[in-house]
Amino acid sequence: MSWAAGTQCVAKGDSRRAKAGELAYRKGDILTIVNSALRKGCYTAINNSTGEEGLISSTSVREREALRVDPSLSLMPWFHGKISGPEAVCLLQPAEDGLFLVRESIRHPGDYVLCVSVSGEVIHYRVIYQDNKLTIDNNQYFYNLIDMIEFYSKNKSSIATTLTKPKQKQGAKSAELELSKAGWLMDTEKLTLGENIGEGEFGTVYEGRYMGQRVAVKIIKCDVTAQAFLQETAVMTKLQHKNLVRLLGVILNKGLHIVTELMTKGSLVNFLRTRGRSVVSFTQLLRFALDVCEGMEYLESKKLVHRDLAARNVLVSDECVAKVSDFGLTKVDWKEPDKAKLPKCSTKSDVWSYGVLLWEIFSYGRQPYSKMEVKEKVEAGYRMEAPEDCPPRLYLLMRLCWEREPRRRPGFSKLREKLQSGLLSV
Ligand code: ADP
Repeated sequence: MSWAAGTQCVAKGDSRRAKAGELAYRKGDILTIVNSALRKGCYTAINNSTGEEGLISSTSVREREALRVDPSLSLMPWFHGKISGPEAVCLLQPAEDGLFLVRESIRHPGDYVLCVSVSGEVIHYRVIYQDNKLTIDNNQYFYNLIDMIEFYSKNKSSIATTLTKPKQKQGAKSAELELSKAGWLMDTEKLTLGENIGEGEFGTVYEGRYMGQRVAVKIIKCDVTAQAFLQETAVMTKLQHKNLVRLLGVILNKGLHIVTELMTKGSLVNFLRTRGRSVVSFTQLLRFALDVCEGMEYLESKKLVHRDLAARNVLVSDECVAKVSDFGLTKVDWKEPDKAKLPKCSTKSDVWSYGVLLWEIFSYGRQPYSKMEVKEKVEAGYRMEAPEDCPPRLYLLMRLCWEREPRRRPGFSKLREKLQSGLLSV
């Protein structure tokens, strides 16, 4: 096992710095790897709790844990929705300076109210929504509630006291706390943002550096969207495979920052379109197909269904390795016995999409027909034709993925075997 700079680990026990240069830590502390040292299994690391740097042995730490995908995980555990002023006052008992919550205004729909306990009383600050921004005093403006709470937790400004303690909504779990405990929260101070490298539907993607490592950072400003992305992030904490874009961690600062490994060559569809036949060899196409297949085989083994597999959601690394990304719609395979009540989705629908992806790869990024367009035709037995110059055995593979009966479609391990034998014979 080797760890890249920026990997976060959890200390298995206490270490009281036996020798000079060794790092001191307590059980449960999160340690960030800075680099690997000269000896095998030895790393330089920073203790996130103390900020100190020193040597550690890889056997005394474990990799951080996956986060449970839990709908009660909240970026705004202090948000109580529509409750009245008196209800808020009740919730903020016993009085404690700086204890706070945010509620939706009943009298002024669309506005919020920040309720803070100070000197035994509760003060209600109306938060006005104006020109897409929030303000209490027409002086400080915020894009969302998370930013506002962050600001007033550090600055008193025009309110009576800084916010020190959130009154959590019953049943809500603080995402910040859970992410931090599990070792996925990264330090905003160690991140340097660079160029804008992509626009997603819900956020902007930047290139950046985190402790010397090149990273990609997706920033989601809107708090409601950020909350939805939290589930995607939780899924990603479970996944570790060379053909899946790897989550490095999360930063909560002016919205949600999702930090992943940097895929310098962008999306597979653009890669193929901009280079074309003269540059990308047939063997390279087969490699991409195999890369994606291996990533999907791993997902399949975890009983997860991607549900949005397509060449636009596959990214290409500096070394030309293709990796699956965008786990926003990923769900548990409904065929699992105890999960039978979930909406129908199975690996075999990913296999169908994989067939389309193969078609996209071997046509150098041409636009396939959309599922909607051909729904009726597909039902009548229509299938896309082979891409230009596509070897028949590969087209045959696509057709297998497009079998009408899901159970007749091959699984990803079968597909991998077939692709591997294809690659060997090139
Ligand atoms: P969408 O919202 O359309 O699913 P994303 O927000 O995930 O898309 O990404 C938008 C674009 O940003 C991608 O098409 C890609 O070009 C770029 N991008 C996303 N993640 C990375 C990454 N890890 N490395 C490099 N580029 C990325």
